[in-house]
Amino acid sequence: MSQEGEQDQSDRKKYEFRKVIEDLKNFEGSGTQLVTIYIPEDRQISDVVAHVTQEHSEAANIKSKATRTNVQDALTSIKDRLRYYDTYPPDNGMVIFSGAVDSGGGQTDMVTKVLEAPPQPVESFRYHCDSNFLTGPLEDMLTDKGLYGLVVLDRREANVGWLKGKRIEPVKSASSLVPGKQRKGGQSAQRFARLRLEAIDNFYQEVAGMANDLFVPKRHDLEGVLVGGPSPTKDEFLDGDYLHHEIQDKVLGKFDVAYTDESGLRNLVDNAQDALADAEVVKDKRQMEEFFKQLHAGERATYGFDQTRTNLVMGSVDRLLISEDLRKDVVTYDCAECGNTDRELLDRRKATPEHTCSECGATVSAGEDDRDDAIDHLMEIADQRGTETKFISTDFEKGEQLYNAFGGVAGILRYSTGV
Ligand SMILES: [Zn+2]
Repeated sequence: MSQEGEQDQSDRKKYEFRKVIEDLKNFEGSGTQLVTIYIPEDRQISDVVAHVTQEHSEAANIKSKATRTNVQDALTSIKDRLRYYDTYPPDNGMVIFSGAVDSGGGQTDMVTKVLEAPPQPVESFRYHCDSNFLTGPLEDMLTDKGLYGLVVLDRREANVGWLKGKRIEPVKSASSLVPGKQRKGGQSAQRFARLRLEAIDNFYQEVAGMANDLFVPKRHDLEGVLVGGPSPTKDEFLDGDYLHHEIQDKVLGKFDVAYTDESGLRNLVDNAQDALADAEVVKDKRQMEEFFKQLHAGERATYGFDQTRTNLVMGSVDRLLISEDLRKDVVTYDCAECGNTDRELLDRRKATPEHTCSECGATVSAGEDDRDDAIDHLMEIADQRGTETKFISTDFEKGEQLYNAFGGVAGILRYSTGV
């Protein structure tokens, strides 16, 4: 699969996860009875089953009978689901949600959801029982996108590593032989200064070598590089062109950090938040700018659900742009009288109304099968036509416009179609 293709797949997966999480967040249990389990990929399923069995017997001590029954039912349901897995969970692990949620009027509904293979690995086993499902760690995996290279250094030590989404991974460190500023007695001041500069230069080369070894092979996936340290170290390091030129080009900025050990990497990411946020929306901004350019030229742009869908079906859409905040269903009304098909967008939680055929005026009703998530609906057509799908955040003006003024759906066309 091409890199773009993989990106599409992961965007789609993220969207599907986001949808499930939004549903889960709306649920509430009347007691501490909603169970969430995060399972890393290297955790044996038999261990998880043993843990769940243990929790089940401990739940016998819960005082409220209703809560006790609900927790035990949830755990039984989880055990049933775990039976479908062999020794280990899928790559990146999985997350299971189960519990009796309030469905209004004092009634409860049993809900069990299994999310397999999240976009980033589940890092540690977590068992959580509360009146809400624990969705935070999963949301963290979805909000962030890119891969960034990190370098922190002063003249004594350096650390390089990755920022993968929200996760920081220290990879390598080095410490220098640069002598302190105090020279020993008997050494000429000039010779001392020269040796010291040489040692600093060697150390910068070593650090750059470490960073290049790590970042250059990944340069096409790399969204940017952050460099941290005290002044003037980080400035000397960057101004001295020690880094490979392609890596140097990706430097988003230099930042003051208090530490240059592994904790300095965290410090660097904290101080670079604004630069990171900008970098995240830059890609989205580019898409929207191209869309507006085409729109003003009046040729290769389409927007709104119906128009974009028509173009998609024709195969004329190069890139489908969907607002990340779009939460709609599409209902398809097939008229039995005249054979016409109408489509209507609806809020997710709204019941399907009856519809008047736009051709013949007959009343058309639609069932569950005629109703589909609007994004899934469009992406399915896009996949069949070789159209790329891009999700656009609403964190910038033109992204907001896509949502507010264009119905959350637009497209950049391969050629002008006049639709
Ligand atoms: Zn009709």
